[in-house]
Amino acid sequence: MIKPPLAAVVWDFDNTLVDTRARNRSVTRRIIEAVTGRAADEYPILAEQHRYDAAIFEWQNWQDLYRIEFELSLDQIRAAGRLWTDYQREDETPTSWFDGIDDVIRELEDWPQAIVSMNTQANIQAALEVAGVASLFTLVIGCDDVGFERQKPNADGLLQCVEALTEADEGTLLYVGDHPVDAQCAANANQELQRRGGQLRVVAVGAAYGTHGPLDGWPIRPDFHAERPADVLSIAGVVRDGRTPLAPAKDR
Ligand SMILES: [Mg+2]
Repeated sequence: MIKPPLAAVVWDFDNTLVDTRARNRSVTRRIIEAVTGRAADEYPILAEQHRYDAAIFEWQNWQDLYRIEFELSLDQIRAAGRLWTDYQREDETPTSWFDGIDDVIRELEDWPQAIVSMNTQANIQAALEVAGVASLFTLVIGCDDVGFERQKPNADGLLQCVEALTEADEGTLLYVGDHPVDAQCAANANQELQRRGGQLRVVAVGAAYGTHGPLDGWPIRPDFHAERPADVLSIAGVVRDGRTPLAPAKDR
């Protein structure tokens, strides 16, 4: 059977396209101080970068992290969420693109591309402008574009991309991300796509170059691993050639 061809490429942003770890820790420190009234250094995971990175990897999403690690109430978590956009805009901690990932985006210019991220629309757009690749993205969905309850692993943002990037009812979209929540999001999108019928499917690519834990340990394993940014191109090539396995990873 000939498998549906590559229809589009969707990216996560933080630590998939751009290394934002230091800035995100800086912003989180300010948020936690504002919401709790306590010094950020009182929280071990905010005191050192490697601890923050490990905690981010461990939790399915930031709301769980804030609830369990920082012991915030739901109201405090909502307040923290509202501060994220402004504090991100004000923070000047440097971020950097992963080496070669902007070239990969340019190589993929024949395919529609989009971003689904829990960072802010403004941050993402600014980074795309800096790299000169903004025009290659059809759609950018940030944390301000989906409701508080509908962030990843909820598939709403990813499904919006599917609808915006392809009008076909068959084809494969890559979703490239560095975090287990990205593979979970792809799986949730596939459940919904399957329910709708048709042959559109999302293939999850684990961005191993940007992640901070073993890809083998993800509760839902990505279909492919990109050890280097350029690997995304060869994976896209495999999908384009129609050899993409569409069954869930656990069945293969
Ligand atoms: Mg990420």
